[in-house]
Amino acid sequence: MNKKVSEEQLQEWLKQTEPLTSLGRVPDYIPALAKQDPENIAVGIFHLDGDCVGAGNLETTFTLQSISKVLALALALMDQGEDYVFSRVGMEPTGDPFNSIAKLEEEDPSKPLNPMINAGALAITNMIHGITPDEKVGRLLSLVHEMTNDNTIRYDEEVASSEFETSYLNRSLSFFMKQHHVIDGSVEELLDAYTKQCAICVNIKQLARIGAVFANLGKDLETGRQIIPKHLARICKTFMVTCGMYDASGSFAIRVGIPAKSGVSGAIVGALNGFGGIAVFGPALDEKGNSVVGMQLLETLSSRMDLSIF
Ligand code: GLN
Repeated sequence: MNKKVSEEQLQEWLKQTEPLTSLGRVPDYIPALAKQDPENIAVGIFHLDGDCVGAGNLETTFTLQSISKVLALALALMDQGEDYVFSRVGMEPTGDPFNSIAKLEEEDPSKPLNPMINAGALAITNMIHGITPDEKVGRLLSLVHEMTNDNTIRYDEEVASSEFETSYLNRSLSFFMKQHHVIDGSVEELLDAYTKQCAICVNIKQLARIGAVFANLGKDLETGRQIIPKHLARICKTFMVTCGMYDASGSFAIRVGIPAKSGVSGAIVGALNGFGGIAVFGPALDEKGNSVVGMQLLETLSSRMDLSIF
């Protein structure tokens, strides 16, 4: 695929999409995220030849939230292997909201349906090697540093502790899974690691580069070094297609057709083999928790450039 997007195109599409910010709402269940400015929007593309273009507020930083689930999955797969990971977490989409507890009880033996819903993501974080929460998060940050070629990336302490203090539902999911031996160890330590992982803070070009490494079959863009084994990068991208946009994954596949993962901060990352990584950010969310501006921008980009994988 030899397609490339110019900065002018991105600026034009962002401008067309801007009015949609008023149609969404910033989330308030994580108090620190409620302070985000819905008008603060950005888009970036990291092409596989290393060329990176962006539009909007390129300086702004935001937390990964559920986008971290893909990175944690990649690390757990590297740490524990596929057989172990998928003996504890399933591969099927749920059609339920990301934080739903409903399906857990239906499954035998209470295995979360996939790694992109909160229950599955908590189980995945539980599997990452590391004795302390900080060791687990440190290892995840190292992966982010490698993918972005930027060692300065950290997690936002305010967002992490704001979520930690109010994670009633994620605590419930964790205690349920502990009862059924899906996870082990301390639930408080798991929540500590998980909320820090979700609070890893990036800008739009860094996020686009993360997508580009997945699009580059797990290889570093400059050196070609394999950061994530190719078959594991493929598993991650497949989950992005089937479960990446929560219970909007089906309509997103039809409307956009790009493997993508969203987070409640309002960020979405896309990874398109042969093209590159795409990052969009707009804190106003629709009722399913996806960025309103982000979804529209991806749809525009996909249709104008004919990018759907299907
Ligand atoms: N940290 C958030 C949570 O667990 C992530 C959810 C999301 O981005 N959808 O609720």
